[in-house]
Amino acid sequence: MSADVISGTETAAGVREQVKRAVETLPTQPTLAVVLVGEDAASQVYVRNKVRQTEACGMRSLHHNLPKDATQFEVENLIADLNRDDEVDGILLQLPLPKGLNEAAAIDRIDPDKDVDGLTEVSAGRLLLGKPGQRPCTPTGCVILAKRALGDDLTGKHVVVIGRSILVGKPAALLFLAENCTVSIAHSRTADLPALCRTADIVVPAVGRPQMVKGDWLKPGACVIDVGINRVPAPEKGEGKTRLVGDADYVSCMAVAGSITPVPGGVGPMTIACLLRNTVLAACARRGWDVPDGL
Ligand code: NAP
Repeated sequence: MSADVISGTETAAGVREQVKRAVETLPTQPTLAVVLVGEDAASQVYVRNKVRQTEACGMRSLHHNLPKDATQFEVENLIADLNRDDEVDGILLQLPLPKGLNEAAAIDRIDPDKDVDGLTEVSAGRLLLGKPGQRPCTPTGCVILAKRALGDDLTGKHVVVIGRSILVGKPAALLFLAENCTVSIAHSRTADLPALCRTADIVVPAVGRPQMVKGDWLKPGACVIDVGINRVPAPEKGEGKTRLVGDADYVSCMAVAGSITPVPGGVGPMTIACLLRNTVLAACARRGWDVPDGL
């Protein structure tokens, strides 16, 4: 058996297309403000991508770059300005912040109604309580990919989420629960993780350990949504070269799973697509617009 590959690249392109069509029907362009503090090269690339994709979907993008020695007060002050700016629908604070700044405190300054990353305490509370609110992007992408593989109704599926981080594991578990799945959250102290995984219809590794989940951890036909992104040596590509792998051992899982997301090209591309979708949803909620069909 060889698992179906769930293409995050294609699915994300579909979500961006939906967002673009939705934006065309709105009374005005939604605006996403991106805040970058410092000059971290990887963060600069991520921010450029977010700005480019926001504009490609027909939305307005505001880019604020603070110097790497910006103070906590300056960061929070900028966020407060963006909270007050009625034109701004979504605020994204690019993480990580430079050392010395308090990320949690800065995130929590974001108006929950503009929290398109879904990371504030209020957004987390709304998710837990099942109230309307912004949902974190990567976990939202995981649910969309599982639905692509298994259909829209995930009722009764047993999902094992491996990892309990605030960014991925916990919100992913809550989002699958909201889809009427039966959810187990595994972590570094879980006893006999392979046996637990073998009971799962959907396995969502979000750990950061290269190729940890093996094919013989899976129930035949299971769906694997691999969140992990790990850089490992790739001597076959030349000296000093590296490649990206997930938390699932792709080759052995391919032989047992029914469907699996690749790394790269799986969950990764969904994150920005869901950020754009969240921006439209935030604009609709703030401005009292109906959510366009398809979103
Ligand atoms: P994290 O905060 O480091 O959390 C990792 C989780 O894995 C923790 O809950 C930890 O358990 C658990 N864990 C560690 N070792 C384990 C083991 N041997 N068995 C079972 N569980 C174990 O990481 P994260 O931020 O959630 O990210 C996880 C992975 O997803 C990383 O590879 C990251 O790069 C990737 N990621 C991808 C995207 C994307 O867009 N695709 C977005 C975000 C993150 P304890 O709580 O017990 O320590």
